[in-house]
Amino acid sequence: MKRVLTTCPYCGTGCNFYLMVDDGDKIIGVVPSTENVVNKGQLCIKGWNSFQFVQHPDRLTHPLVRRNGAFERISWEEAIRAVVGKLKDIQAAHGNDAIAFFSSAKTTNEENYLMMKLARAVFKTNNIDHCARLCHSSTVTGLTGAFGSGAMTNSISCVEEADVIFVIGSNTTEQHPLIGSRVIKAKRNGAKLVVADNRTIRLARMADVHIRHKNGTDVVLLNAMMQVIIAEGLENRTFIEARTESYDKLKDTVLNPKYSPERASLVTGVPADQIRQAARMIAQAPKAMIIYSMGITQHSHGVDNVRSCAHLAMLTGQIGISGTGVNPLRGQNNVQGACDMGGIPDVYTGYQAVTDPDVRKKFEAAWHVDRLPGQVGETVTTAINGAHEGKIKALYIMGENPMISDPDTRHVREALQNLDLLVVQDIFMTPTAELAHIVLPGVTYAEKDGTFTSTERRVQRVRKAIEPLGESRPDWRILCDVAREAGYPHMAYQDPRQVMEEINALTPSYGGITYDRIEKLGLQWPCPGPDHPGTPILHRDRFTKGRGAFMATEYRPSMELPDADYPFVLTTGRVFTQYHTGTMTRRTQLLEREEPEAFVEIHPQSAKDLGIRNGEPVFVFTRRGEVQAKARVTDVVPPGVLFMPFHFEEGSANVLTNNVLDPLAKIPEFKVCAANVRKSG
Ligand code: SF4
Repeated sequence: MKRVLTTCPYCGTGCNFYLMVDDGDKIIGVVPSTENVVNKGQLCIKGWNSFQFVQHPDRLTHPLVRRNGAFERISWEEAIRAVVGKLKDIQAAHGNDAIAFFSSAKTTNEENYLMMKLARAVFKTNNIDHCARLCHSSTVTGLTGAFGSGAMTNSISCVEEADVIFVIGSNTTEQHPLIGSRVIKAKRNGAKLVVADNRTIRLARMADVHIRHKNGTDVVLLNAMMQVIIAEGLENRTFIEARTESYDKLKDTVLNPKYSPERASLVTGVPADQIRQAARMIAQAPKAMIIYSMGITQHSHGVDNVRSCAHLAMLTGQIGISGTGVNPLRGQNNVQGACDMGGIPDVYTGYQAVTDPDVRKKFEAAWHVDRLPGQVGETVTTAINGAHEGKIKALYIMGENPMISDPDTRHVREALQNLDLLVVQDIFMTPTAELAHIVLPGVTYAEKDGTFTSTERRVQRVRKAIEPLGESRPDWRILCDVAREAGYPHMAYQDPRQVMEEINALTPSYGGITYDRIEKLGLQWPCPGPDHPGTPILHRDRFTKGRGAFMATEYRPSMELPDADYPFVLTTGRVFTQYHTGTMTRRTQLLEREEPEAFVEIHPQSAKDLGIRNGEPVFVFTRRGEVQAKARVTDVVPPGVLFMPFHFEEGSANVLTNNVLDPLAKIPEFKVCAANVRKSG
């Protein structure tokens, strides 16, 4: 029996465990690490079952090419030659920016770095992005503008040091179970809990204050809370004067009578006194922590929502010390790392801007290339739109599944079918891979070395426990093979450790994060040098950008609101036992058994009005399409609201969602669209 210490491939909490491997190279279980400071010997149900999909018979084990409408097995040499040949033809005919790359929040830092390098150094385009665009791009934009850094300001352990925890737009116990259990523990130890969520999620049931604001009205709620704080003299003047700028602009905005608790109550549906109560609790707490997630970010005004959270923290001085801060919980195992590695179109590693000539010079010298592109590239969402319009001709997707994860599936399908070349590198034949011209079999986290960066900015080791299945290859190796075939000799690495050494040299915030140093326990960036201990709490004495910026934010309603034809608000999210597009959890018996099919939550009154009974199939429809799901009649949702998880290919919620984008972050509005529902049959 072999024990291999590694990091959970599911949520961004970053739990560590040992994979137990028998002498037939079969993984037979996991044992949680007791030394790890995050999970301390615990795992959630996904962690305990995180090995079953690894050796699943559905795994892709050979490269495939589409010929005459069907996939045929080909050799790696043929596959790599075909990918590079077609990419070069498209580049020659349509220019560098006719090609786009999607890297992956599920793959390692080293692999995200290499795909970013492949896009920029080899194919000379900044069209590189990944699914952070769909979850926390508004966090990166909003918090970078306010603080200079777009990541969780504090550590997971800080949760238990807060006197007040304000959870807004995060179903923490379902999405980040071990962080959720810390919130519950803190509450049991005396912390006050304020939960702002239209659904009565588990944390809401134990909250001291449960704010059920209407979907999409966060800015009104937060501005009204800030008006109360200023009007009652509860703002932290010392902090504001010493640490921030543009406070007058914030004051002018939030003191407008339209954000009075009474007026805000009309928009949000929240009683004015409850707005006052929550505002006072946060402002008067010795230590108050804000936790948020995609309920805040996935809006056409996602950046405004994020900024408003940042404003509340700065207004009350609740940042820079333990038990406080603005804490976006990143959804996938390595979505933080994929952003850190420059898997986004405007920056290289460590958020170094592609538009900065000095930064480009540094990367040109290190990568031995003449001229790197200086204009910001396309995002996941704009690249799909570009493919639909015919501007993007080739898409190389590693470990992403836009056919399930992106809004308006019909639009996505049309876009992907419009491409001259779709390459999908993945571990299973996903609905996206089914549309590909060439499919490259990558490997799971258990078959390769590397690192993931968790939501608290902790870079941790991923270790190979078994040999790759069939002819599948580690993604880092496939990317290097593609680069070599394209005639670029500077992506020849022995192993991911060498890749990390290159990242260390080029990335100030990762400068001191070497494999030797994170052998037992990960380090939190920024960690600029070999002797630096890492940074559990950001912005202690000064913000990364110097002074924190108040960027006054006005309310903009969601883009598609209910009307006579579509009288419900549809909102989407996740469930505890499934993960993202379901490719891994749906191949895990126990997890699939718990939540095996698409459902739609509907309030008992709404169900009664429509004659819908609990458990019966219904059709949910919007202007984009229609899906069938099982009705779950529950007062978890308020009247007039429908909730669907997006994990399920059959009954896929994203057939219904609205492909409208935040103008800055380009994140889609997954959380609000107008919908209707009717009995099936
Ligand atoms: Fe894995 Fe997240 Fe569960 Fe930890 S909390 S075991 S990281 S899914």
